[in-house]
Amino acid sequence: MGLKTVLLTGCSGFIGSNLTDFLLKKGYRVIGMDNLCSGRQKNIEHLKNNPNFLFINADITKKISVDEKLDFILHFASRASPPDYQEFPIETLMANSFGTLNLLELAKKNEAVLVFASTSETYGDAKVLPTPETYWGFVNPIGPRSCYDESKRFGEALCMAYHRQHKVEVRIIRIFNTYGPRMKPGDGRVVTNFIIQSLNNQPLTIFGDGEQTRSFCYVDDLIDGVHKVMTVPNISGEVFNLGNPAEKTMKELAEKIQELVGKTGMIYKELPVDDPQRRLPDISKAKSVLDWDPKTSLDDGLQKTIEYLKQYIKK
Ligand code: UDP
Repeated sequence: MGLKTVLLTGCSGFIGSNLTDFLLKKGYRVIGMDNLCSGRQKNIEHLKNNPNFLFINADITKKISVDEKLDFILHFASRASPPDYQEFPIETLMANSFGTLNLLELAKKNEAVLVFASTSETYGDAKVLPTPETYWGFVNPIGPRSCYDESKRFGEALCMAYHRQHKVEVRIIRIFNTYGPRMKPGDGRVVTNFIIQSLNNQPLTIFGDGEQTRSFCYVDDLIDGVHKVMTVPNISGEVFNLGNPAEKTMKELAEKIQELVGKTGMIYKELPVDDPQRRLPDISKAKSVLDWDPKTSLDDGLQKTIEYLKQYIKK
């Protein structure tokens, strides 16, 4: 049997590039697609001479074609950092709507399994915690985050429509906050902000009172879950939360990072509009159906992320 071929959109991004490395190591052929609007060439530079990797610089919101038979399509192309998607709301809406449509058509043609990278943001400011996949969400459809939340929700609905109407094999994952090496410094996310600030000996910027929570999953754990979602049989049309259920307030995260890097103080800034108050996944479905559980402690994961981000600090 030949290699299984994966089309991965967003291959140059933080999760996409880590996923590309993982899949190549597992023996897949990877066709990586990206328009480099938020992903970075340097994340895939080391794969230049890998015969099992092909990079295509393309915009998935336009018609796309691939000359090879595809077994899997993984749709990970979208801006995902709140300040970033709020600066480019239209592109974000298009990547998750037209982009998803084009990829579903390709999946239909190839009879490929499609995995759609959705988000915990589909739950909005969740009122059920820990949040199970059956929760419908509490989302502001016209707020500054709606370009992301609503386009991911539309993407999910479109996947389910292709599943029901055309019997396309779709699987949806709702990714909770994920961190690790290759996160883009300066894109405004809390983990990179706090680490870069503490490495630069600056106070950490806490938005609001710092009592809002997130649950942080290390990227290698997430990728292990993505691979299970790709390959476990008989789960077409299913949705899975993938995230680490260890909930932390932003103040606790700041304290942890200062413990690892050094004390540089904290300053308080205004809480962004529609910033969810708590985020905590219920991962019992992923545990029982996929036999998946995140393994990396916050300390270990942060240490690796700190090591990676040190290259961006001016000496
Ligand atoms: N946050 C913060 N300081 C920062 C950046 C973010 O306190 O410098 C907070 C933000 O308000 C949110 C949480 O950290 O409550 C996570 O923000 P992030 O942008 O990483 O992602 P989100 O989970 O909101 O999509």
